[in-house]
This record gives sequence, structure tokens and C-alpha cells, in this order.
Amino acid sequence: MDATDGKPGGTGPGTGVPERNWAGNVRYAAARRHRPTGLDELRSLVAGSDRIRAVGTGHSFNRLGDTAGDLVSLAGLPQTVEVDRERATVTVAAAMRYGDLATRLHAAGFALPTMASLPHISVAGAVATATHGSGDGIGNLATAVSALELVTADGDLLTVRRDADGDRFAGMVVALGALGVVTRLTLDVVPAFEVRQYVRLGLPRAALDEAFASAYSVSLFTDWRGGADDPRGAAGRIGQVWRKQLADAPPPPADWLGTTAAAGPVHPVPGMPAQNCTAQLGEPGPWHERLPHFRLGFTPSSGDELQSEYHLPRAAAAGALAALDPLADRIAAVLQICELRTVAADELWLSPQYGRDSLAVHFTWIGDGDAVAPVLAEVERALAPFVPRPHWGKVFTLDPAAVAAAYPRFADFAALARELDPAGKFRTDLLDRYLPR
Ligand SMILES: Cc1cc2nc3c(=O)[nH]c(=O)nc-3n(C[C@H](O)[C@H](O)[C@H](O)COP(=O)(O)OP(=O)(O)OC[C@H]3O[C@@H](n4cnc5c(N)ncnc54)[C@H](O)[C@@H]3O)c2cc1C
Repeated sequence: MDATDGKPGGTGPGTGVPERNWAGNVRYAAARRHRPTGLDELRSLVAGSDRIRAVGTGHSFNRLGDTAGDLVSLAGLPQTVEVDRERATVTVAAAMRYGDLATRLHAAGFALPTMASLPHISVAGAVATATHGSGDGIGNLATAVSALELVTADGDLLTVRRDADGDRFAGMVVALGALGVVTRLTLDVVPAFEVRQYVRLGLPRAALDEAFASAYSVSLFTDWRGGADDPRGAAGRIGQVWRKQLADAPPPPADWLGTTAAAGPVHPVPGMPAQNCTAQLGEPGPWHERLPHFRLGFTPSSGDELQSEYHLPRAAAAGALAALDPLADRIAAVLQICELRTVAADELWLSPQYGRDSLAVHFTWIGDGDAVAPVLAEVERALAPFVPRPHWGKVFTLDPAAVAAAYPRFADFAALARELDPAGKFRTDLLDRYLPR
């Protein structure tokens, strides 16, 4: 658990392995916790265990990574970063946080094309759930992976590469931890770049597509509150637009899409301090200090919350938001903030963006699961016609058959999991619910 993000450590006695997730809504049921310091130790541990799961930094909101058996953190393994300048790749230890990787990469003159809203998460944990940032032309974080090394059920070390293992590789990247314990990942990198971040207020929803297309990475925030008499804007307005543009692109004009410029730095969650956020007001800075919303070393988001997110075909954006309109008051009553982002299509079997450019509709709920549950069910019913794919690391209750039907390669992934893990060593209750044996 990251002790620098304002949350209690919560690690098991003497093990340095989290006892609960970051949000505190999941207490890991593990009978045993492990923090191996070498690869051979990890391989023996996996080979000798009946039930085992890896944990990253514990920032997921559901029980995908929970196990009653052995819980293993890879944070004790050497935290290596190897940059290959000729191939433009970096090979990184699984447990490394994106924020730490980014600092090292930037110093070497390289960048990742995208980052999540927070840099506190581990590379392997984020890739396992297809964590994403935003950008019409930018894939999720897992799309940068060109090779993976993992310890499989029998303790063997398996390496798979995008250029050598073709279709099978596409099934193994976003793997929900179901195929083995990932030890190292190779990621594509690009030359380091600078970004300016501008926050604009009060975007008419009709301008949503234009706003998304206006810059390298764009996030929209709405609280689902407001009506014709609300000083924050008429119904349907987006409260904040976070526009992250390449530093040499021209700033948005004063009257951009009917918005106004934020007078000072802001936080997307009402009431939270702007100092937790990356620099705004157009101040140029390195990619890794602008693409995330939240700064390493500060609490990301609000800290007392649950999150859900649904990925929908990009073309369905207007219809999907209109389908949620009748629920606006119900949503607002248990919501801290809602974020809309775009993610480019990819070919990774279990990626929520598989085969379709996507709109990601994200909800930061209050921390009260009982109050959120009935609203979540209504949101899922309203979005059902748009074939939603849930964020694998957030709270969802969608029907397993509907989830399976939303992924053309779901059965292929289930077969891959059976082949690599015939005894179900890496299974969890949540996997058993969604992934047929
Ligand atoms: C404040 C906050 C903001 C967030 N913002 C975003 C965002 O902008 N975009 C987004 O898409 N998501 C976001 N998330 C969700 C988060 O990125 C995902 O839940 C991510 O998976 C968390 O990474 P982690 O390292 O904490 O993984 P964990 O939660 O520890 O693990 C996630 C899964 O990966 C598996 N796993 C971990 N390590 C390994 C390994 N070495 N080998 C095999 N399997 C492994 C675990 O078993 C588990 O199933 C946010 C979460 C929080 C708390």
C-alpha cells in the first residue's frame, strides 16, 4: 500500500502486503501474505500454492484480486527499469508504480503516451485491468505492452511477445490476474514531450465531441446537478473540461465552445484542495506531471469513495448520456463526481475498448456501498442497450452473460485460462462469477 497518498498503510503484520484495498471497502481474505525478494522464491511460492493472487498497490475497488489462499506482493523484488533506446521500449518490474517509472523514463528522454488519473498505481495491476487515461487517438495503458514475463501455475517462467506470439499475446495482456503472476513488462515509449493543461468551465453537452477532439487528452467532469435556474449552468452542462494539450498547440480562445476559463487551479471533486492536482492555467510541464490529474505524494481523488465505470461505443455517447438523464437526481444524491473520457479501440481480448473507440463514463460515488448499490443497478439498466463493458477494477454488478456477450473473444480467453491454469490456482470468487471454467 502506498503510504504517501494520504491513506493508512494497512499492511499485514510484518509482511508489507496490504490487508485491504486503497478504498477500504475490501479486506483481503488471504490466509497467508508473502513478499518474496527474488524470482526463484516467487516461483516456488506459486508452484506450492493451491490458490494464489498477486496484489499491486490495491487501488481496485472490487474483489477481483481477493483470495482466501496466498496473497503475494512483488514490491520486494528488484524494482528494475531497463530502457532500450534503439527499440524505444522500457522493461519494468511488475510492482513499479507508474509515477516512479515516469520519473526515470523522463530523465532518460522518454515518455509513455498516456497515464491514468493517478500515478500511484502499479504497472502490472493497471495493465491487468486495462486502466486508461483519455484521448480520442490514445489506447489504454495495456496497449503499450509489447512483452510480458509471468510465472505460470506450475512455477515456470513464461515470456510472451507481441511480435512473436500474435493473437495469443493479445489474449494475455489484459488478463485480470487469471493466467499467472506477471513479473516484468516491456512497454513502448515515445520521446519525452511537454504538455499544458487548461481547465474550462461550463461546456454545453452538445459540444462534447468537439471538446474531446480539441486536444491530446481531454477529460470532462459533471456532477449531474443543476437545472435552468442553477448558477452552475443549465441542465446538461459539463462543469469542468480538463484540456491537456501538447505544449506547442495554441491555447483555447477566450470564448472556446461557450466555456469560461477557470480563474485558478481547481480539483474535480467538490471541496477537495487543488494542490493535490497537477499544474493547470497553461503552465507547460513534462508529460508525467500533466497527463495524470493527481500528483504523486498527494491523495488522489477524494480518498473516501467507491468508483464504477462503463465503456460504451463512442458513437453511442449522446444516446447513453440521454438515457442517464432521467436518473440525474438519483445519481447526484450519491455522487462525488462523474468523469467522461475517450479511449481508442484496440485488439486486446479483454480490453473494454476491444474493437471499438469508446466513451468511458466514470462515477466517483460516496463511500457508502449500501446507498450506492440501488443507483448503480439503475445506471446499469439504463446503459444496457449500449452494451456496456465494465472497468474490471471498479464496482459493477452487470449480469455475467451480458458481460461475456459484450466481448467477442471472451470464450477464447476462458479457454486460455483453462489451458494455463487447469487447477484454478489463480481463480477468485469474482472471476468464478464472470469467467466460465
Ligand atoms: C483514486 C483512483 C483513481 C483511479 N483512476 C483511474 C483512471 O484514471 N483510469 C482507470 O482506468 N482506472 C483508474 N483507477 C482504477 C485503477 O487504475 C485500477 O483498479 C488498477 O487495476 C489499480 O492498479 P493496482 O496496482 O492498484 O492493482 P490492484 O488493485 O492491486 O490489482 C488489480 C488486479 O491486478 C492483479 N494483479 C496485480 N499485480 C499483478 C501481477 N503482478 N500479476 C498478475 N496480476 C496482478 C490483481 O490480482 C488484481 O486482480 C483508479 C483508482 C483509484 C483508487
